[in-house]
Amino acid sequence: MSDSVGSDSEVCATSIAFESETSNSQPVALSDVSPQDKPWDKHRAFTDRVEGFYRGSEFNRYSERIHYCSELLEFGLALQDDESLKLKLRSARFCRLRHCPVCQWRRSLMWKAKAYKVLPKVVEAYPSHRWLFLTLTQKNVPIKDLRETLQQMNKAFQRLVQLKAFPAEGWLRSTEVTRGRDGNAHPHFHCLLLVPAGYFSGQAYIRQSKWVELWRKCMRLDYNPILDVQAVKQGSKPMELVPELLKYCTKESDLVADREWFLELTRQMHKMRAIATGGVLKQYLKELEEEPDDLIGKDDEVEQPEGASLYFGWQRKEKRYRAVDV
Ligand SMILES: [Zn+2]
Repeated sequence: MSDSVGSDSEVCATSIAFESETSNSQPVALSDVSPQDKPWDKHRAFTDRVEGFYRGSEFNRYSERIHYCSELLEFGLALQDDESLKLKLRSARFCRLRHCPVCQWRRSLMWKAKAYKVLPKVVEAYPSHRWLFLTLTQKNVPIKDLRETLQQMNKAFQRLVQLKAFPAEGWLRSTEVTRGRDGNAHPHFHCLLLVPAGYFSGQAYIRQSKWVELWRKCMRLDYNPILDVQAVKQGSKPMELVPELLKYCTKESDLVADREWFLELTRQMHKMRAIATGGVLKQYLKELEEEPDDLIGKDDEVEQPEGASLYFGWQRKEKRYRAVDV
């Protein structure tokens, strides 16, 4: 039995929360008692900025919705395998807006958790198959043309997977849009491809320059697009690509760089799908195509919190969550 001091730190930390309620000092901050929950402050601060962008715009109603997003977090204490206690989110109210930084972070966490759970099953079912990571791009476009461009890219991708030469038996595709320094949008696809065992030595093998040619044709471009293709090393698992594949659609620093750009992004991305699956991967990963119902992470751990709840409220001025009485 290792009853080490280190593993007790979280237990001690939670007792600080109770202590502080009786003292006159400021209530304890979430980031101090639970290092793993530090990201909450960062994401929630970005959410305030996005709220400000929406206020007074045609999306004013979004600013009201986003205002109340994750204002109050309810945590329980869950016993870990090593017998330490950890804060575990029990409930929160989410606005579920597409470009809400908190909600897109939670969404990404849920998608990743799902992928980490399911991909090992695919590996088990296709033990000798190999994996490719393909990034498809095209020239940057003015943000006003983003929707049309994404629609073209979707069509081109459909053409690509229908080509005889397309080597994958299954695929997952996610859409990312970044903001160029000149304010143009850079839409691109990240794709995970499942290819047969003999792909690298057989006739079906496609070298990088050939991929460029195929994508160029499918996109009907008059130039060679930038394209990256990487093989997951033999013996390595596709799970290592999950962080890159299922990250945010648009990173937070790009979201808050410019109000007009952000509002246009909201218009352009309305109801555009972020993730698509196909071939034999569809049956495993289809759930990722939908918005996750659960943004809390209710079934991602075996240990569920029991007993009393701890509440942390968003302190707008200070940009931190602090313990509150409810
Ligand atoms: Zn939200």
